[in-house]
Amino acid sequence: MAYGKRHLSRSDQRARLALAAQEIRVPVACDVCVVGGGAAGLVCAITAAESGASVVALERNLRCGSTILATGNGRCNFTNVSLDPKHYNNPRFVKAAVSSSWLDDILKFFRDCGMRWCLEDDRLYPVSRQAASVRSVLLRRARKAHVILAPNRTVSEIETFPQGYRVQWGSGSSLMTRAVVLSVGGGCVTTLAASLHLNVRAESPVLAPLACETSPLSSLNGRRAHVAASAYRAKSLQAYERGEVLLRDYGLSGIVAFDLSRRVSPGDVIALDLLPGYSVAEIRGIVDPRDSGHFEDDAFDGLLDPQIASQLVRLARARWKLPRPWQPSALQGADQQTTDTDFMLSLVKGLPYCVTGIAHPELAQVTRGGLMVDQFNPTTLESLQHPSLFACGEAMDIDGDCGGFNLSWAWKSGLIAGKAAAEAAEATR
Ligand SMILES: Cc1cc2nc3c(=O)[nH]c(=O)nc-3n(C[C@H](O)[C@H](O)[C@H](O)COP(=O)(O)OP(=O)(O)OC[C@H]3O[C@@H](n4cnc5c(N)ncnc54)[C@H](O)[C@@H]3O)c2cc1C
Repeated sequence: MAYGKRHLSRSDQRARLALAAQEIRVPVACDVCVVGGGAAGLVCAITAAESGASVVALERNLRCGSTILATGNGRCNFTNVSLDPKHYNNPRFVKAAVSSSWLDDILKFFRDCGMRWCLEDDRLYPVSRQAASVRSVLLRRARKAHVILAPNRTVSEIETFPQGYRVQWGSGSSLMTRAVVLSVGGGCVTTLAASLHLNVRAESPVLAPLACETSPLSSLNGRRAHVAASAYRAKSLQAYERGEVLLRDYGLSGIVAFDLSRRVSPGDVIALDLLPGYSVAEIRGIVDPRDSGHFEDDAFDGLLDPQIASQLVRLARARWKLPRPWQPSALQGADQQTTDTDFMLSLVKGLPYCVTGIAHPELAQVTRGGLMVDQFNPTTLESLQHPSLFACGEAMDIDGDCGGFNLSWAWKSGLIAGKAAAEAAEATR
């Protein structure tokens, strides 16, 4: 006798989900139609329904909320205790949209969903440390609020009518709605925006690994280091981050590189200080206490990852010429880089990576660009051009740092747009 569920192949699973989606009846009319059932769309749909509106959420994928599953390496870093508009590309708009109770509003919403959380540094995760928990509580609450979740429906056009909007998907299916919310996430809004004559800022991936010029440092592929990273453009400091980097053969990855990817451009130089807690004089005192200009081959092994140390020692002894004239700030003014120790210290305090662009855009966590924010009322997220049309989440030109800031915008903007859309629908009865 076989125990447990029969294992379904991926295509069987898809077929089963497609069938289940097909069986969901979408009404011909509703109060609020949410286009996109991801993070922001689910919170928006729940909020609108709990405010008394009849709500349909149309989702392109076979399941709603599937983007949530990949977040935080499957653990979902769903918010951050240090929420602040300064972490976003459009801080003024974010500030005008969110209230001082931003974090409390998000936590209340999830507490009411039955979810509990835990803190790691400033980041909050579900106590299960499973992104699936976040998705699951959202789907359960959406069902309880009688939201009609309709997956496998890719919305292709939204038409304006005197009493609302006609939302079309598939081959000729449509519904009429009093209010519509665009929550299609990053990289998907351009076509729908065009049908509504809304302005879109060109979309590009951010929060992604950085591609850098090939150099002898490429051989350090796979090594990790805790660094202070300074990004320079023509010697002026553009960005500064502290944390872990993952050195790759193509450039840099890890949280520090992801955060820098929002602020650097091709041609910028990132200098990694591999020992940010130590001054040049302190390191010299450890590895070359007699200031002889020389150090033992393994002198840095107690300070750095030994593989990184041995490669840097090789480069220092070979007087490796940096890819372009570059002097890490820790050594600026010290022209007398003549000894092995000087060369080594210059590498340790300012390992240079010359940025060429984004590596692996498919790994990007967020898309910069989307609906330009000046077309929306920040307190309701309603279009200034189209009454009863709203937007939320990454469909708007808002992106934030790693650390739960992007989902925090998704949740909060979903709360704002959901409430305002229900009120707008009510007003047109
Ligand atoms: C790998 C990865 C890890 C991440 N980790 C974190 C993290 O730990 N913390 C954090 O804060 N952020 C994280 N993010 C970012 C975060 O996931 C997004 O900011 C957030 O999901 C945006 O929510 P959204 O609802 O706007 O978009 P989405 O969640 O992407 O939802 C949009 C939905 O709209 C649907 N859709 C698109 N076009 C149509 C259409 N025409 N018709 C119908 N439906 C459509 C899509 O299928 C999708 O389900 C991560 C992102 C990725 C990719």
